[in-house]
Amino acid sequence: MIQVEKEQKGSISVYKLSGNIEEDTHLEEILGPPKPQMEIHCKNISRINSIGVKTWIKYFQGCQKAGSKITYVECSTAIVEQINLILNFNCGGTVESVYLPFSCTQCRTELAGLFKVVDLKKLNMTLPTLKCTKCSGKAEFDDIPEDYLAFLNR
Ligand SMILES: [Zn+2]
Repeated sequence: MIQVEKEQKGSISVYKLSGNIEEDTHLEEILGPPKPQMEIHCKNISRINSIGVKTWIKYFQGCQKAGSKITYVECSTAIVEQINLILNFNCGGTVESVYLPFSCTQCRTELAGLFKVVDLKKLNMTLPTLKCTKCSGKAEFDDIPEDYLAFLNR
């Protein structure tokens, strides 16, 4: 099940998606026809399976062909995985910001840190630590930078 919240910000059509993208997801019905400027919020997309990926690419390739300028913001870890795995997942769109998984070195709490892609490129694979929201301890990036951030080098 996927849900969408739509909003118009000046000339930008904003879509906030939440849920899972699977075989019962019909993006063209939920999102409607392509718009000139589309901002896709992916923070609450928790899962996308292989059929969901096909649906996603079909829909956004259609938008790309229609000349839409697409920006993906706040990409969840599920979406970042696909961006890394599938070369044309973003269908010509720009990935603006992504969530990175962090884990506290003291209490093991898992956190998600939001980073802008421009800033990540400047960091050159050296990620900062975050402050744990539970114990204020030090949370470290919980994946392999070269894998999780592979898409930065495209
Ligand atoms: Zn902690």
